[in-house]
Amino acid sequence: MPEVSAEVLEQPLEVKTTTCYMCACRCGIRVHLRRGEVRYIDGNPHHPINKGVICAKGAAGIMKQYSPARLTRPLRRKAGAERGAAEFEPISWEEAYGIMAERLAKIRSTDPKKFAFFTGRDQMQALTGLFARQFGTPNYAAHGGFCSVNMAAGMIYTIGGSFWEFGGPDLARAKLFVMIGTAEDHHSNPLKIAISKFKRDGGRFISINPVRTGYSAIADEWVPIRPGTDGALLLALTHEIIHTGLYDRAFLARYTNAGYLIDLDPNSDRYGLTVQAAVDTGHGNPNHAHDELWWDRISNASVVNHTPGADPYLAGEFTLPNGAPVKPAFQLLMDRVKDYTPEWAEGITGIPAATIRRLAHEMGITARDEKIELPIAWTDSWGVEHETVTGNPVAFHAMRGLSAHSNGFHTIRALAILMSLLGTIDRPGGFRHKAPFPRAIPPIAKPPNSPDAVKPDTPLAGIVMGWPGGPEHLFVEDDGRPVRIDKAFSWEYPLAVHGLMHNVITNAWRGDPYRIDTLMIFMANMAWNSTMNPIETRRMLNDRDENGEYRIPFIIVSDAFQSEMTAFADLVLPDTTYLERHDVMSMLDRPISEFSGPCDSVRIPVVPPKGECKPFQDVLIELGTRLRLPVFVNADGSRKFRDYPDFIVNFETEPGSGIGFLAGWRGRDGAKSMRGEPNPNQWEMYAKNNCVFQYELPRSYQYMRNCNKGYHEWASRTRLRRYSDPILIQIYSEVLQKFRLAAQGRGPSKRRPPPALAKRVETYFDPLPFYHAPLEVHATDSTRYPLAAITQRPMAMYHSWDSQNAWLRQIHTHNYLFVNPRLAAEQGIADGDWIWVESMHGKVRCMCRYSEAVEPGTVWTWNAIGKAPGAWRLAPDANESRNGFLLNHVISDELPATGGSSTANGAQTISNSDPITGQAGWYDVRVRIYKAGAEEPQETWPRFEPMPSLPGVSTARRLWQAFVAGTGEWK
Ligand code: SF4
Repeated sequence: MPEVSAEVLEQPLEVKTTTCYMCACRCGIRVHLRRGEVRYIDGNPHHPINKGVICAKGAAGIMKQYSPARLTRPLRRKAGAERGAAEFEPISWEEAYGIMAERLAKIRSTDPKKFAFFTGRDQMQALTGLFARQFGTPNYAAHGGFCSVNMAAGMIYTIGGSFWEFGGPDLARAKLFVMIGTAEDHHSNPLKIAISKFKRDGGRFISINPVRTGYSAIADEWVPIRPGTDGALLLALTHEIIHTGLYDRAFLARYTNAGYLIDLDPNSDRYGLTVQAAVDTGHGNPNHAHDELWWDRISNASVVNHTPGADPYLAGEFTLPNGAPVKPAFQLLMDRVKDYTPEWAEGITGIPAATIRRLAHEMGITARDEKIELPIAWTDSWGVEHETVTGNPVAFHAMRGLSAHSNGFHTIRALAILMSLLGTIDRPGGFRHKAPFPRAIPPIAKPPNSPDAVKPDTPLAGIVMGWPGGPEHLFVEDDGRPVRIDKAFSWEYPLAVHGLMHNVITNAWRGDPYRIDTLMIFMANMAWNSTMNPIETRRMLNDRDENGEYRIPFIIVSDAFQSEMTAFADLVLPDTTYLERHDVMSMLDRPISEFSGPCDSVRIPVVPPKGECKPFQDVLIELGTRLRLPVFVNADGSRKFRDYPDFIVNFETEPGSGIGFLAGWRGRDGAKSMRGEPNPNQWEMYAKNNCVFQYELPRSYQYMRNCNKGYHEWASRTRLRRYSDPILIQIYSEVLQKFRLAAQGRGPSKRRPPPALAKRVETYFDPLPFYHAPLEVHATDSTRYPLAAITQRPMAMYHSWDSQNAWLRQIHTHNYLFVNPRLAAEQGIADGDWIWVESMHGKVRCMCRYSEAVEPGTVWTWNAIGKAPGAWRLAPDANESRNGFLLNHVISDELPATGGSSTANGAQTISNSDPITGQAGWYDVRVRIYKAGAEEPQETWPRFEPMPSLPGVSTARRLWQAFVAGTGEWK
């Protein structure tokens, strides 16, 4: 090990602050440097997210910075080399830009759709989305479709906000905390800090999860549940809350659409939609008059909602003066959940009916009897002044365990409705919104709705990702075919608000709905853990057509590390690490807002880029300039922005709007916030303030933001909202009903789904949540494959990012399949045995580990610990590739179905995704396990050819493992 001289050790440590990116939580960190090299990293005590706390990953950032897997030079696939063989030659950035600019300019001037741009867990979607829109391609999305779009869409289409970046549990005031389907690292440090205080203050914490690790391990009660059945539980809880009368009637009547009358005239074109009075209610939104009717208990007649002095019936059946039968939305919900009894749910979830009743009772009683009252005066959207803010202290948190199922959208709608029934939305002790949410339901931004939005040499007419409000907002051809390569916003996945990244390679390979030319992937490992069925995906990436050309002609990959995906690139762009670049966590994207007001944050480089690495943001600005995309050039076509930092300071969403990527220190002298002219010293001001901007709302604007007049007026002034009308919680979803009506050949929209998809749309677009088993379960022989198989991220590694990290590898160098000992014993499997886990799609050999902390019908493992040999600069025989395994090999991105795409052999398939949002059904697979033969090799299967080192990556493996920062040996 090289020696560190006394002279070096005497050099003072320098401390710089920036924002962590070892996971997506965005904690503030202090990076300690000596002679310009990172010495260690700790948490920034002055940062609002983590308050000085740092996790194992965050502290291990030094080993990411100095990882030997770092790409350092632009690379081009060698002429004649096969994709996947990872044979590259270094080229200059000028050559790389030249190749991209020439190719993309040709695509843009002919058919911009042929450029597809998809990104992984990046934090710059405002920029990548802007680039795609300016280019003119609709084929853009980030990772949300294969992550948690059901969570975003299910919640936002119901309460106008969602968990994590846009809202969360108010554990400072909650008395009961219910966590469902949340990985043990989710919202990591902030949630850990909040839970520890919550528990110290005597709060009760219930975790509902098939697996008891992480957060579940410290819960007061663990309720094991079968994967994919959460919807049944939530509907049964709703049944009980209604049955026992423990719902917050006053909250439902005033702040939700529970009292809105639904037209039930079977001959009406508005069957199943609200009845409206066609009057101006003065809320100032030209798209939503807010004139729906209540049936008033005082006058026993229909009145416009929120008529002063009126109080709506929530239950009952009424007849309008014109003879139309109507019911309040809440009555329809009661009708819906009547048969969703705890006994019914027990058979599906595996949770005893008595437990479900007890949980419902505990939630309802806590909400009703432990009310919070804060002396904060506020005014609601109808001008009524309230002297206090009240709250029902039951808080929930949920994430991908609920979301990543093909029935997840309705599950999450059911959760949001349960939370609303308990009266917990944006109230103390319940769920709290974070700016820029809540937004209108659905948010106003819409995707383009016509293929005419795509034109050569022209930006896309409309934003790339939006929120459809009905069939008229679908992005389809006249005959109903999708316009997008991933089929988002088509009749197959109408509310695919985050796109379907997991469909892109299959669709592009198949030419369904069309072939593309260039696929650009940014920090997404699509040849490995970010894809279902990696073997087939790798084959498709390398497959050629009848003319001998690659079916996906050109692939650009930008990444900081030698991932499995880089092997399949034609052009590799070496990205920087989070310690080497500027970044913004923008209000236009996913900021770090607090319950108390908007916050955004930045990263500021603490070390220079390694080798020839360039921040991908700079690459986009440069490429946009060379392609003369309007936003990036002046009227004469000259360069508008020097680089990304310059773009951040000077870009405005519209000329003179005063709104840019950063909300803090705006105006020439930095004295304005939220809106204001560009400030040339904005970065310096963020640097002086721990890289964070915090805006504290007046207390009267901090609660009840669905219907808080003052907050809405402020939000529309600052353009967080376009209008200041109320955001009524949608117990009953008219948006969904509009799609259902179209599928039935009626309703206000003239658009109709293709006949093969009509039944699917009619079934799943139910305005009220319902339970159905995941699509994969329907397609599986459950006698042969009786077990659910799931993954979760560990605390110490974020997806595939950290196997090149010498410190974190010491925590997880390989993974096991965790099996309940009862189940293993039935199969004659001993702890540590090599076993097979097999689904109808494929099989994997792995090691079994006994665990009591998993419900017996489920097996599980850590996500993305298994690696392809040689990837991430690991030795070809590293534990990660010999003993570690990827469960993805038993999961398929497609399921047999009618009405989907035709495969080469004429079979019909459809994406393994939620039929509403396109959310990937990662956790729906069903498997069996059995012992591997004694004669079989004791290593994982399938196996892959080792990936060679890419030119420019370090060979200093020993040095790296010895941790000699400060010696200058890294350079
Ligand atoms: S939770 Fe850990 S890895 Fe994630 S941002 Fe915070 S310190 Fe970094």
